[in-house]
Parts: sequence; structure tokens; C-alpha cells
Amino acid sequence: MKNGPKPKFATYRKMLEKKAEEVRRSMSAQKAAQVVARLDVPSDEGDLSQQHHEEWIFLNRNSLDMKLLREVGDALQRIETDNYGTCPECDEPISTKRLDAVPWARYCVTCQERIATRQAAGEEVDEFEEASR
Ligand SMILES: [Zn+2]
Repeated sequence: MKNGPKPKFATYRKMLEKKAEEVRRSMSAQKAAQVVARLDVPSDEGDLSQQHHEEWIFLNRNSLDMKLLREVGDALQRIETDNYGTCPECDEPISTKRLDAVPWARYCVTCQERIATRQAAGEEVDEFEEASR
């Protein structure tokens, strides 16, 4: 298909682009806030550990943003390559309801849940995908 994404995905594309923009903006805002905080570095020990704590939160949040940004980027890529909206696990179309809620969803609900269960056994469950939007 040479005429770009299918019209029915154009809306999702817009949503994804908007989301990517939001995440990028939030990341640079955090970065800016961190730089500002650094200009005002207190030097005694107590404040230093507080600062480490904040840094940890920042890094943690930032990596979630990074991950989300990557998910959104992947979804945009799938629209470009015409693979969007199909679950790679079972080859079934992902429901519109799900895509409306989580436009960057890669798997259908059934497969996502199975993967989550699998991850719960070992790694941490990737909950943010459903939670942060
Ligand atoms: Zn599936």
C-alpha cells in the first residue's frame, strides 16, 4: 500500500504522535527541573542522600517514559509497515476498544494477559502500559 496508512489507522496515528509529543515534553520538563535542582546543590550529607533519592525517582520515571516512548514509536512503525492492529502472538486483530484505550498496544487482551502472567512468574509485570495514559 503506497497511499500511506489506512484511513482507519489515521486517528491512531494522530493519537500516537500526540502521545509521543507529550512524553517527550514531559521528559524534557523533568530534565530541565533536574538541571535547575542541580544549580542549587546543598552540600551537607543529609541533603545529599535526599538528592540521591530524588535522582532515583527521576531516573525511574524517566525510564518508564523512555519505555512508553519506545512503545509509541513501535506502534507508529507498525502503522507505517501496515502491521498495526494485529496481534503478533495469535495473528488476530486487536479490538478497536483496546486500541482506543491503548493505541500503542502490541498484543490483544488475551495474549497481553498471558504475557503478563508469564512475566509475573519471573520479571516484574509491565503494568504501566495499561496504566499510564
Ligand atoms: Zn493475541
